[in-house]
Amino acid sequence: MTGSVLEVDLDLLAANLDRVRAAVAPAELMLVVKNDAYGHGLDPVVERAEREGVRWFGAFDVLTGARVRRLAGDGARIFVWIADTPAQVSAALASDLDIGVGDRRLLEDIVARGGTGHPARVHLKIDTGLRRNGVRPEEWPDFVATAAAGERAGALVVEGIWSHIAEASDEEDDLARARFDDAVRVAEAAGLRPRLRHLAASAASFARPEFRYDLARVGAFCYGIRPAGGPDEEALGIRPIARWEAPVVAVAGDVARIAVGARDGLFRTLASRVEVATPGGRRGLLAVHGSTSEIRAWPGAAAGDRVVIFGDARNDEETATSLAESIGTIGEEVAVRVSPLVPRRYRGGR
Ligand SMILES: *Cc1c(COP(=O)(O)O)cnc(C)c1O
Repeated sequence: MTGSVLEVDLDLLAANLDRVRAAVAPAELMLVVKNDAYGHGLDPVVERAEREGVRWFGAFDVLTGARVRRLAGDGARIFVWIADTPAQVSAALASDLDIGVGDRRLLEDIVARGGTGHPARVHLKIDTGLRRNGVRPEEWPDFVATAAAGERAGALVVEGIWSHIAEASDEEDDLARARFDDAVRVAEAAGLRPRLRHLAASAASFARPEFRYDLARVGAFCYGIRPAGGPDEEALGIRPIARWEAPVVAVAGDVARIAVGARDGLFRTLASRVEVATPGGRRGLLAVHGSTSEIRAWPGAAAGDRVVIFGDARNDEETATSLAESIGTIGEEVAVRVSPLVPRRYRGGR
């Protein structure tokens, strides 16, 4: 290996899945696998999760959803939430996906195609304040009436009602939840009987029981990525499943050059803000270039030594989130930025 490697421990994934399922119970876990399972690699993550008994996957787009279907088999339920053309709806139905519907035109497209003996399973999205698509409360009564008519006509079945929240302040989230409850009541008054209500992602589903409803859509915590500025991994009972390692390629004076750089997805702005775990202890990251970076050397440093860019705080390593905190972003951003060209190496069975 001449460059950096992302080591992913699937046994740790399994342990996090257990922990998350216990934390969100009696709600069921929907494992969110967008962005190539947050950079960890979709296929091994889905295969292992399926083996661990995860039944719901949140795939984001239809292409990913179709791939999850092939990996996880017929028993899985797979939710996608950016199908927005008739062709994508057709593709979603062909892979038996559950479709998030947050606009009227898409709902009308689905109603118009008719059931043909195979009604679409849809989850209606209310905009509870984020304004990142979803149907506005003032348009909701009309929207659910259209959905109810479509259900009676056999074109669709409303399986769920959902929304997405900021998880940035409790006050805002509480307001979003009140809007969500209203939306569910209005849908029921229109004759719908959604079995699945889902609102929360990692942070709210752990911290706030009343946000769990029937399904918790969790990504970050399953991969062991804690929230920036929030509780640590130990308090959450999770561990990072990935470790990004790079070899030393040269040592000159008190500077060691390592084979990882901006082209591999390392933020240039991390230079002089964070440390790298080395065989000689933590050393400052001095500069990030295109395909290499410079760190402070340690006594005996030599080409071939390996250092850790992010891993587990329990091993005195930085984590995706601690790197993120030093540059004002979130751990997910650091994790998904690791280039797909960086090889992933898996421990633990798929
Ligand atoms: C990404 C995403 C999630 C998961 O969020 P985490 O904070 O990573 O758990 C849940 N729901 C939606 C709609 C998302 O886009």
